[in-house]
Amino acid sequence: MPRPVIFAVAITGSIPRKAHNPAVPVTPEEQIESTHAAYEAGASLAHIHVRNPDESSSSDPELFARVQEGLRKHCPDMIQQFSTGGRGRDPAERGSSLSLKPDMASLATGSVNFKTIIYENEPQLIDALAEAMLEYEIKPEIEIFDLAMLYNAADLVERGLLKAPAHVQFVLGIPNALPPRRKMLEFLLSELEEVLPGATWTAAGIARHQIEMARWSLELGGHVRTGLEDNIKLDRETLAPSNAALVEQCVALCDEYDTRPATPTEAREMLGLRPAT
Ligand code: ZN
Repeated sequence: MPRPVIFAVAITGSIPRKAHNPAVPVTPEEQIESTHAAYEAGASLAHIHVRNPDESSSSDPELFARVQEGLRKHCPDMIQQFSTGGRGRDPAERGSSLSLKPDMASLATGSVNFKTIIYENEPQLIDALAEAMLEYEIKPEIEIFDLAMLYNAADLVERGLLKAPAHVQFVLGIPNALPPRRKMLEFLLSELEEVLPGATWTAAGIARHQIEMARWSLELGGHVRTGLEDNIKLDRETLAPSNAALVEQCVALCDEYDTRPATPTEAREMLGLRPAT
């Protein structure tokens, strides 16, 4: 029996379209349409950032609400995950959309250098976001950009700020952070089993590392993330045409690993989420 795998699509991210890819959906209408196409292609989870009209990162709950409403209408059972991260957002505002009670929200459990910036997540902010997610019954996706973040997540469980079993995402291939090495992923997985037993996991590879990471995840029992957010292209000739095209590219690997895309209902069960409302 093929193993069901959750395909997450990170539709937008936080980098302005001009510096990234003209295909990135930015307005709520574009985001809903692009997510719907990715859903049709096999994605069961959408990771969502919203943008101000000037395309800078936004925390505006009204924008999140418009996307949430549109997705509930067009892909009602798809898992919605709001980002609490991203560059250029006021830390005090990063949790402001959690009162909309999305199914999930991202939670980075430490600070890390990226290529040109510090991705700052101070301990007080991490605790405050974790507390808000508990209050609104939102399942966090723990974002592991560097090694200590895994143990910080286990500490959140110990302090009653995170419910087990957790769901974690290992992000490999960001310059200055974790390298996209198979041995690194294998080490992370063995540590995960010890410090967060029963956790589900996804490995996300950035840009040219994406397909390799998807293959390792399919092989090693994980879930897969793709999407334009992670496909930051240096080479404009090979820009990904759409979120749906990226999902199709990853779903096409399933047969080689005796896997198949999970339905949204299966994905909700695996993550311990409530059924779609
Ligand atoms: Zn993101």
